[in-house]
Amino acid sequence: MKLSTTLILSLVLAIPAPAATQRIAIVKTDDITAENAKWDRCFKIANDKGIKVSAGIITESFQKQGPDYVQWLRKWDATGMVEFWNHGWDHKRWTEDGKEKSEFRSSGYDHQIEHLQKAQAAYKNALGKDLTAFGSPFNAMDEDTAKALNKITELKLIFCVPGAAATKTLTGKILLPMHLRGEHDGTGKPNFEKFKEDYAKKDRPDLTFAAIQFHPLGFSEQGFQDYAAILDFLKSEGWTFMLPSEYEKTKTDPL
Ligand SMILES: [Zn+2]
Repeated sequence: MKLSTTLILSLVLAIPAPAATQRIAIVKTDDITAENAKWDRCFKIANDKGIKVSAGIITESFQKQGPDYVQWLRKWDATGMVEFWNHGWDHKRWTEDGKEKSEFRSSGYDHQIEHLQKAQAAYKNALGKDLTAFGSPFNAMDEDTAKALNKITELKLIFCVPGAAATKTLTGKILLPMHLRGEHDGTGKPNFEKFKEDYAKKDRPDLTFAAIQFHPLGFSEQGFQDYAAILDFLKSEGWTFMLPSEYEKTKTDPL
């Protein structure tokens, strides 16, 4: 049997090319406590590029702010371009008996579960739905955090430092490790040149996921420009940006 060139060609074309590995990034922004023009600007810069942003709320803010605050959060939530996550209740850090403690480190199980539950309830009460992702203040967690998170089934996604010991005892969660660093000059200070340098060292085929952390309230004018440049660069490198809840749908094998 002789196959025509056209037929052979169409058969060859029908074989799908091996799919390029998808690289997924989540923009992680921290520390919402009030409506602020810097937040609007941070969201808008990304959204104008088609990039979605996740933003951590310090949920004690629901006690301190009025209805305008909730309206503002609702407005961004309704765009579908911003997703809020649980950044704890009070973001506190203190020293006790010479020991450094923080909201989710060395503060004990009772303290931690209470704060997680209060945070979940405050958001649900204000916006009518559950937060599904958590990131601890200072990225500080311990075994009690894992134990408490395991009890809160609504919290399915956990931002973390790659390989953090506290994540080892989590069950049924999806980890969101910060494999790429957003702020090379300190909290709230992104530096695009340093980002690119660092990225060149980490740009390996096995790097297929990264949460990237920013603190927009600390951004200077230059900071906003560097933030925008980092997002443009990652887009040009073929990264797909997702919200935590979108990423969850891509995962079928939680811990
Ligand atoms: Zn924070």
